[in-house]
Order: sequence, then structure tokens, then C-alpha cells
Amino acid sequence: MTVYLNGVYLERAQAMVSVDDRGFLFGDGVYEVTRARDGQLFEWERHARRLARGLDGLSIAAPAGLAAALPEISERLLRENSLEEGDASVYLQITRGAAPRTHYFPPPGTAPTIFLSASRLKLPEEVRARGASVITLPDLRWGRCDLKTVNLLPNVLAKQQAVVAGAFEAVLLQDGLMIEGASSNTFAVVGDVLRTHPATPRILAGITRDVVLELATELGIPFADEAVTVEELAEATEVMVTATTADVMPVVQVDGRTVGDGRPGPIARELHRALLARLERWTARAAP
Ligand code: PLP
Repeated sequence: MTVYLNGVYLERAQAMVSVDDRGFLFGDGVYEVTRARDGQLFEWERHARRLARGLDGLSIAAPAGLAAALPEISERLLRENSLEEGDASVYLQITRGAAPRTHYFPPPGTAPTIFLSASRLKLPEEVRARGASVITLPDLRWGRCDLKTVNLLPNVLAKQQAVVAGAFEAVLLQDGLMIEGASSNTFAVVGDVLRTHPATPRILAGITRDVVLELATELGIPFADEAVTVEELAEATEVMVTATTADVMPVVQVDGRTVGDGRPGPIARELHRALLARLERWTARAAP
């Protein structure tokens, strides 16, 4: 597999990062995961905007011209790794670079570390067909979850608890509210209204979440970006999670309790179909 590291395309096994890298030492960096279909990046401009906000939020200065180069690098990785057909994802990470260890920022001019790789995306279709189960856990994260940083320890621990419990996702709760998943955004249908946490610093506003909200408008599904309480979650007729690597995933069990009639709900299925249709149109439009 060919990856990109700091201006060079090389075999994955040859790609080495310094032990002084601040991504390694502090989780001091940001990342993006972009969906690709038939060699085309889906909704790249939204990922680019979120990346720019993240870099700005951490005061990491990206090299001039990087933003323009990233889609070209991504598409070349898709080509060189024979991912021009079907579903793939591109992982991108930018850290504050390698420098002697200090908590404060390294000297100006320290070059950020830039890494990209592409891989086959296997969507969880078997889980989708029967519906996912989730567990709820307290949200132990910091106050800037809107920045997509590689500092993911609370997410990692929550996801591991979900895996141990045989669940697809851990849904994080704070102050009696459903916040989001360990690596997804969460939605619930409460009294016929599709609800999700507003895009505040408590959540990472997912690209899939944004697209799903647009699709809800197009489809005439009433929605509100108003957080769902734990009590409302218990009464919800549908629950779903969204992420680049899962699309729209219906949830049929929360902490072992059945949601609705225990089968994937009609709104989740409709939104998922609409998301796939958008992806198809996108790919057809972008094709040379
Ligand atoms: N929230 C968190 C904490 C995430 O880690 C992710 C994806 O990794 C998402 C939401 C969903 O974001 P997106 O739809 O852009 O993949």
C-alpha cells in the first residue's frame, strides 16, 4: 500500500514518524476521514472547511498550498492503491510536527507532519439490515469536541466498552442529554420530529450529520437541532447514528432496551436511501 508522508509517496511499511512528533507525544493534531466512491471524494469541500477550522482552533499553520493539494494527493492514493472502483476512505492527519518535548508550542517554523492513506471501505451492511445496538456512557471528553483532534482517548475507552458489550456504538451522555456517539453523531425521533444535538462545541458536527439534515429538509421530514433528553431517548420511536464509515445506521436497542418495534425504523431507512442516492449523483457528476 502506498501512503503519503510529508511530500513523499512511499510504501506504508517505509513510512516513519519521529518519536518527537507532537501527535505521538500529546495527540497534538487533527484528522479527517473522507468517503470516496469510484475514485471520487464525497463532500470534500465540507471536510476541507472542518479541517481548516480545526487547524485554526489548534493554531497549527498548514504550509501554503496544502489545502489545494490535499484532494489531488487523496485521488492519487486512491488510484495507486487500486481503489478507483467501489467504496474507499481517505485518512488524513496533520500534527504540529516534531520538536524537543515541551508542553508549549515548538519554535515557529516547525514543519507540521502531514500523512494521508487510502483504504477499502467495508460498510457494516449486516448490522444495518438488522439494526444496531448501542450502550450509553457518561461523556468524559473536553470542552472543544467540535475540533476533530487525534486526542481521542475518552472515545477510544468508550468504544472499547461498546465492543466488550457487543454493541455497535457507545452513546455519550452529559447533563441528562444525548450528546453524540464515540465516533458518530446521534439522532432520535421524538414525537414525529427528528432531533439531534445542535452543532455546539460539545459535539463534532459530522459531515454525514450535515448531509442528513439537508436530506431531511428535501424529504419533508420535520427535524430540530435540539438535544434529546435521556427520558426522551427512552420514549423515542427511532434512534440512529451517522458517520462517514457507517452512513445512516438505525439503532434498535439502547442499553438492552428495544427501540420502537425492534426493527430498523422507516425514517432511518429513508434517510439512508437518500444518502446513497446523493452519493450516486455526486459520483456521476464528478466522473470525467
Ligand atoms: N462525532 C465523532 C466524535 C466522530 O469521531 C465522528 C467521526 O469520526 C463523527 C461524529 C461523525 O463525523 P463524520 O460524519 O464527518 O464522519
